[in-house]
Amino acid sequence: LSDRLGGVFDRLTKQGALSEDDVAAAMREVRVALLEADVSLPVARQFVKTVTSKATGAAVTKSVTPGQQVVKIVHDELIKTLQGEGEPDALRIDSPPAPILMVGLQGSGKTTTTAKLAKRLKDREKKRVLLASLDTNRPAAMEQLAILGTQIGVDTLPIVPGENAVQIAKRAKQQATLGGYDVYMLDTAGRLHIDEVLMDEVQAVRDVANPRETLLVVDGLTGQDAVNVATEFNEKVGISGVVLTRMDGDGRGGAALSMRAVTGKPIRFVGLGEKMDAIEVFDAHRIAGRILGMGDIVALVEKAQEVLEVEQAERMMKRFQKGLFNMNDLKSQLEQMMKMGGMQSIMSMMPGMGKMAKQAEAAGFDDKAIRQQIALINSMTKKERANPDMLQASRKKRIAAGAGMEVSELNKLLKMQKQMADTMKKIGKMGKGGMLKQAMR
Ligand code: GDP
Ligand code: MG
Repeated sequence: LSDRLGGVFDRLTKQGALSEDDVAAAMREVRVALLEADVSLPVARQFVKTVTSKATGAAVTKSVTPGQQVVKIVHDELIKTLQGEGEPDALRIDSPPAPILMVGLQGSGKTTTTAKLAKRLKDREKKRVLLASLDTNRPAAMEQLAILGTQIGVDTLPIVPGENAVQIAKRAKQQATLGGYDVYMLDTAGRLHIDEVLMDEVQAVRDVANPRETLLVVDGLTGQDAVNVATEFNEKVGISGVVLTRMDGDGRGGAALSMRAVTGKPIRFVGLGEKMDAIEVFDAHRIAGRILGMGDIVALVEKAQEVLEVEQAERMMKRFQKGLFNMNDLKSQLEQMMKMGGMQSIMSMMPGMGKMAKQAEAAGFDDKAIRQQIALINSMTKKERANPDMLQASRKKRIAAGAGMEVSELNKLLKMQKQMADTMKKIGKMGKGGMLKQAMR
């Protein structure tokens, strides 16, 4: 998406507010991007409509391009839609034994997800969990759950041939109560497609179990079909949330947006592989980044908007290009780092700056060190800051003492300023297309 928008906005050099034409051009691209990410058409349309009204006339932060600004607005709206409000991120498992019903099509990852969640409850919340497979059509499926149960150290309900799903559900409830389990999870049978028989069976099980959570497991690679599946299950069975599996693959995340928008039900977890630990709580930021395909730029724009004092940055830029870098410059850099959440985080977001971030880390660039360095600079006089080369030994002692530090710390700071000044000189010589200038844009 960033490439597309880049194309649209390359021709735009003016800054200020976003015009209707700017937004309309960008929104055409956003729409295509959403559809490419498997967002369903009605959802994409509605989304674009919402974003258009928000973007038109919005002010453009000086440090970013209009294209980036639109991406930011799109991104924020994505998060809002994906996240919903006041949703639980933990499973509701009060009043033991709490029933959890797992539903979904065959092959969606139900059985695997059941075991993964059971392991999570056992490991993280120290819960006693009982698993039961209701997949009477496929003996192998029941076997599969038993094997996974053994593997993760969670009990499974003994298999009794000839029982139907409702009978198994009843027995599971009984066993969970008698056995003092905190949670029992019912792994229902799935079919390749939604049909009456499947829905009738799931409804009957639901009525017996009265589940605290009904989680719909959906294959994240199915794209647009996911919306139909989610709608059906939500209408016929009522779901409390969705687990999106196979997000370790190249699923584009659009299904999450569609399902959330259409059913109003939260995505609760994402499956990230076949291993029993490969499950995570749903993170709207990650999926939004995935839909946009450019999380890093969005993060940078966000931070830029929050804290960058643009005029100051531009003024400094000019100084840097001349190779000027004194203690005042160092101080404002350090202060900005504090505001932006540390040097590493900033550099790691900028293209090509990864190596410098590592060096900074090695040099002990944590928040405390930065604060101490600022304190040292603060105890210098104005003249000294502008021209730190003039510092004599006696002044160094006084400055260090004034900041409650050792002279060796001050020497380190001076060395750093010198190195930065040298670097600035080199970068300045690189001229217009220089790395720093690009990174600051
Ligand atoms: P069910 O028919 O809905 O019970 O589906 P299963 O749990 O048996 O899963 C079907 C296949 O998908 C198995 O081979 C699983 O290992 C695999 N699977 C499940 N979840 C994930 C996931 O998040 N990522 C990947 N890569 N594979 C998964
Ligand atoms: Mg299964």
